[in-house]
Amino acid sequence: MRILLVEDHQDLAANIGEFLEGRGETVDYAADGLSGLHLAATHPYDVMVLDLGLPGLNGLALCERLRQDLGRPLPVLMLTSRDTERDKLAGFEAGADDYLTKPFSLPELHARLKALVRRAAGPGDSVLRILDLEFDTRRLVVRRGGRRIALTPIGLRVLEALMRASPAVVTRADIQHVIWGDSPPEGDASLRGHIHGLRQAIDADSPRKLLHTLHGIGYRLGPEEDG
Ligand code: CA
Repeated sequence: MRILLVEDHQDLAANIGEFLEGRGETVDYAADGLSGLHLAATHPYDVMVLDLGLPGLNGLALCERLRQDLGRPLPVLMLTSRDTERDKLAGFEAGADDYLTKPFSLPELHARLKALVRRAAGPGDSVLRILDLEFDTRRLVVRRGGRRIALTPIGLRVLEALMRASPAVVTRADIQHVIWGDSPPEGDASLRGHIHGLRQAIDADSPRKLLHTLHGIGYRLGPEEDG
C-alpha cells in the first residue's frame, strides 16, 4: 500500500512510519495540513493517516478540502488524542472513514488501514446466483438460463432480498418492509400481486420452479426441497 501520513508530532510520525515500512508499506510524510493536502492531490495514495490536531489547516478542514477537491475517493483514517463523541462525529462528517484514538497499537493501525483499502476496492462480485438465475446487483440485470428478464423496480428489490436470504425463508412482513418500508398497504393483495409478477417473470418459462410460497409465512427462493 502507498500510505500518506500527516502528523505534526515528529516522534509519533517516525514510529508509525518505521512500523509500516517494516511491514513492507510505502509511507510518505507531511508535518502540516497544507503539505498533506498537496501531497494527496499530486500522488496516487491508497490510504491516508490524518492527525486531527495539525498546525495551519487542521485534520477536519483538510479532510473536507480533500473530499471537495480531490475528485476521487481516498480512504482516511483519522488520529486524535481527543476521544469525545463530538470529535468523532465531526471527523466522520468531514469524511473520515475510520478513527483511532491515541495512544493506539501500531498493528491495529496497520490492520485498519488494510481493511480500509480493501473496502475502498469495493465488493469483488456483485452477481447473486441461484442455479441458473443470475442477478447483477450493480447493473440491475437479471437472467434466467442466460435469457434476460425484465423486472419492475419493486420486483428487483424483492428478488434481491429473496436471493440474499436463500435458501432461508423471507417472511411476508420482511418483504412488505422491502417494498413499502414502515407503511405497508392494508391486506396482502398488493404483496401477492408483486410476488405473482415476480414468479411469472422468473419461473413461467422454466420447468424448474425457484420461487416457493409458504402459506401464511412467506416466500423462499431456491430449488424444490426434497420430501
Ligand atoms: Ca497533532
